[in-house]
Amino acid sequence: MPKFRIPDPRIPKLKRVGLFGGTFDPIHYGHLRAAEEARLLLPLDQVIFVPAALPPHKQGEPLSDPRHRLEMVERAVADNVYFSVSDVEIACLEKPSYTVQTVEYFLSRLSVELYCLMGLDSFREIETWKEYRRLLELCRVVVVTRPGLPGGGRVSCPPKLKPLFSSSLRDLDDPGKRIFILPVTGFEVSSTQIRSRARAGQSIRYLLPQEVEEYIEENGLYKSSGFKVQGSK
Ligand code: ATP
Repeated sequence: MPKFRIPDPRIPKLKRVGLFGGTFDPIHYGHLRAAEEARLLLPLDQVIFVPAALPPHKQGEPLSDPRHRLEMVERAVADNVYFSVSDVEIACLEKPSYTVQTVEYFLSRLSVELYCLMGLDSFREIETWKEYRRLLELCRVVVVTRPGLPGGGRVSCPPKLKPLFSSSLRDLDDPGKRIFILPVTGFEVSSTQIRSRARAGQSIRYLLPQEVEEYIEENGLYKSSGFKVQGSK
């Protein structure tokens, strides 16, 4: 059964909900701060983190067991009433699952406006996403800035999508504007960097919540023996 706690009993009326998909292997402060700033600036009533089972664009890459990735996100957001976690992609949808299906899943169950949060690196690949045109009809896409990307932080919207693009949140109520850029505090941290630091026995403190760091330690994640390509025996 999906584990998302929506509507959260502590928030009676949800109107604007953010979906933040990712592999979260592991979740870190870059994700959490971007979600927090998006929640405050848009504003959103709730941000639902949706760990991916087998991201279409990361197939064949090493990936921790979904159970661990889900648990790390649970721990990271446990103390925030505005953040929740859904295991819909891990437990329910076919794999690989696509964002458009996840969005449909939520819209069929919640009467809300959905805002799909993603980093600039993900947005740069949007034209490779399954049914991205339909995705943009179903929800708005909010692109958070991310430091350290190749080509710098330049936001280039594919020409075909330019009419849908706005750099001003004042256009949020314009039904024709579907893509927004949201400058957020830059944390030059990535899950890749954390994994390689953990593997090398280097400190990962202050790059991610302490609860997540402890979980990594307790479960021996990212040591070569505990980290294998998903789907391998
Ligand atoms: P990896 O290094 O394994 O590729 P990642 O750090 O990019 O992982 P993901 O789980 O793949 O993390 O990212 C989920 C989403 O969060 C993506 O849309 C990504 O662009 C965004 N994101 C990740 N890190 C940051 C960051 N430091 N600042 C802003 N957005 C981020």
